[in-house]
Amino acid sequence: MARIPEEVIRSVQESVDIVEIVGKYVTLKRSGSSFRGLCPFHEEKTASFHVFPASGRYKCFGCGEGGNVFTFLMRRSNLGFREVLEELAAEEGIELPAQAEGPGEAEQRGRRLAALDAVRYAAGFFRAVFLRPAGEAARAYLEQRGFRAETLDAFEIGFAPDALRGLLDSARKHAISESALFDAGLVRRNERGQLYDMFRGRIIFPIQDLKGRVVGFGARAMGDAQPKYLNSPDSILFHKGREMYGLHAARDAARGARRLLVVEGYTDVMACHQAGLREVAAGLGTALTPENARQLRRFRERVILLYDGDEAGRRAAERASEILLAEQVDGAVALLPPGKDPADLLAREGLEAIEQVVEQARDLWGFRLERALERHDLKTLEGREKAIAELKEPIARMVDPIRRDLAFRLLAERVGVDEATLRRQIPTARAGRAPAADPPRAGGWVRAEGDFILAALGDATVWERVERAHPPDRFVDPALGRVAGAIHDLRTRGESVTREALLGALEDNDEAIRALQALDAEDGAFARAMRHLVRIEDGKRVEEALRSGKDPLEAVIEARRAKRAAGADDDGAR
Ligand SMILES: [Zn+2]
Repeated sequence: MARIPEEVIRSVQESVDIVEIVGKYVTLKRSGSSFRGLCPFHEEKTASFHVFPASGRYKCFGCGEGGNVFTFLMRRSNLGFREVLEELAAEEGIELPAQAEGPGEAEQRGRRLAALDAVRYAAGFFRAVFLRPAGEAARAYLEQRGFRAETLDAFEIGFAPDALRGLLDSARKHAISESALFDAGLVRRNERGQLYDMFRGRIIFPIQDLKGRVVGFGARAMGDAQPKYLNSPDSILFHKGREMYGLHAARDAARGARRLLVVEGYTDVMACHQAGLREVAAGLGTALTPENARQLRRFRERVILLYDGDEAGRRAAERASEILLAEQVDGAVALLPPGKDPADLLAREGLEAIEQVVEQARDLWGFRLERALERHDLKTLEGREKAIAELKEPIARMVDPIRRDLAFRLLAERVGVDEATLRRQIPTARAGRAPAADPPRAGGWVRAEGDFILAALGDATVWERVERAHPPDRFVDPALGRVAGAIHDLRTRGESVTREALLGALEDNDEAIRALQALDAEDGAFARAMRHLVRIEDGKRVEEALRSGKDPLEAVIEARRAKRAAGADDDGAR
């Protein structure tokens, strides 16, 4: 995707009024030079959420959430940076540069819009068939499963008639082109080149993207047709690995509940909604994907996998935990009684029963560990070795030092091995990458990395020293590491390091943009960055001295003296 020039981002940011935009979601009252209101990102009774029109930024002193108009909208609507930028630009009548759309991109966009139209038409068609006599069996089936009409309404449940050209013929009468239906994965072509409906004789579950647009369908067979569940094929609109069923509707509820439940099936999502549990979504098909996990991480709420407690469910939960752990998602596993799904439990025992199961959720790591230990005989040395070998990888991948510590402790305890021995046996990925020096105080490396970036925004010359002490590829926070990489690139190209230039350079990387925008330019950042630098540099000198048998204290004092002399030279040269 072509890079958006810095000036465009700047002009969009300058032309929108942050008070007006935030004001659409939060009731703001003037308070001195800022505005304040109840924070939309955490539950509170007294207003600690401030908007500063002069700097175009907001900050919540309750939960720490902060940023500018882009991050606010990204966080509020879970959209990407580019999408937010496009929407704001459209509202403000600012034209995004034409070269942002490469050759073929305009055509591609036209096709996507036509396919969206086709999907919208199809959703209406399936819904209408569902409500007609042709949909009676489907209605009866769902009713017997305990679904009320208003739930089926809310999820726009439909029915695809058992005909080869039901949708096809109807769409043609409404000027929906065959190519759009084909692009949307709604029709297929047989060997003789004739088109026919993809979904036939099936209950239809429309799948929405995060903007709430229907982009594809899940379809359940009536009777014995195989496969029982069929999804739209991947297309220019729809990626099975990316979307989740019910996620759009779950978004706001998840924020209020501070959690998001992931269930296994479409009807589980519907049953939970019907019972008043709205922070629920399901993966499409069998397994949660890394793309799903990254999207869930953007929600920043605790993800609870609510799976069947039978062996198949446990295996699925294990795979899903592995993926969530790898993507650094905060989560837990809650297992239903074996053989039960949430719909069963809700029907028989009500919401209470689900809450009880959720209360007993195990954190992802604990669950992963228990599963590995179940597989091996811990009474034998061999079994213990195998268990440790199996868990080596996942521990080594853990980035968060606190979680990693807990993982070590838990494993040592359960396997009955000395923790220190275990630590020597499992070289963590980070231990090899992170600088040898102790992390700077207060907030650890991540805080320091933020300060380094803020310092560079104020005075880019400090960056050379930062890179020597703590190079971008050693950043503990991967998102800030990408920002650091972008600073490096800008400097290499001789461009100035500004927030807007960085936004432009990071255009495709929402994670990094969010991390950058969350950094608040306060006065103390530069001074703190300098203190971190001194600490890291001293630490390195101590290490070196210890290695070469010198007195570490002497080494540090000597180096500081040398630096002060060099610093005096610098000052003199200026
Ligand atoms: Zn807040």
